[in-house]
Amino acid sequence: MAGIEVVFDFDKTIIDDDSDRWVVEQLGLTDLFIKLVPTLPWNILMDRMMKELHSQGRTIKDIAECLKRTPLHPKIISAIKSAHSLGCELRIVSDANHFFIETILEHHGLMDCFAEINTNPSLVDEEGKLRILPFHDFNSSPHGCDRCPPNMCKGLVIERIRASAFTKGKNRIIYIGDGKGDYCSCLKLKEEDYIMPRKDYPLGDLIRTNSSLIKAGVHEWSDGEELERILLHLINTVKSEDHSTNIGNFSPLTSVDLNSHAVALSAQEPFHAVIEVPH
Ligand SMILES: [Mg+2]
Ligand SMILES: [Zn+2]
Repeated sequence: MAGIEVVFDFDKTIIDDDSDRWVVEQLGLTDLFIKLVPTLPWNILMDRMMKELHSQGRTIKDIAECLKRTPLHPKIISAIKSAHSLGCELRIVSDANHFFIETILEHHGLMDCFAEINTNPSLVDEEGKLRILPFHDFNSSPHGCDRCPPNMCKGLVIERIRASAFTKGKNRIIYIGDGKGDYCSCLKLKEEDYIMPRKDYPLGDLIRTNSSLIKAGVHEWSDGEELERILLHLINTVKSEDHSTNIGNFSPLTSVDLNSHAVALSAQEPFHAVIEVPH
């Protein structure tokens, strides 16, 4: 049995867009969003957007219907189902929120594949308004990591996942992500782990720029088809190592060329011509 934790980012990794950006644009809040983005932290701004939708008479169901239309590559769905059926434990670590993620996963029949979703909590208040809260309460217990936004440090989540996974015999992590917010996670991974950064997205650039800090094996993917192929290959590699017990002496795929390609840590991600998403 492969002792593998597969940890997925959500936006631009499981879905092929950013769920926050998708809802803001699809429900007509782009202008207000752009006006407020310089004044509020992202997480609070999204809560403000939900307030605005409620004041315009949009219901939770409207938001859910909008989320169900987000693009999700069919090969990502089969990759998730295959990894789960091969005995891996699957988790999500995302700076979106529970309502967005669960609505999309349920729509595609994927909720049962995941052991845990680590993201910003959400709730529906007494007025029927969706509220989005920070994962870490940055007033009462700031996470203290200067690489990450105040509401969520993914590196801390990875440390906790490793501690709990170890007690269950899952001692290898495969981390799949695309954004700057995933870099802190990658710094916590070890030689026996793998990182699957999305090709030509900010995480891959950060890994190349800081290659001396990265211990895990790096394998890039660019679309759902490639994600599925590489993920299943890595899982099978780990499983075959279980038999040979010769850990560390293999090269199943050509690792990404870690040449220098400087990208400032503070640079914004130009995900979209109108709305830039910093995670
Ligand atoms: Mg992402
Ligand atoms: Zn961090």
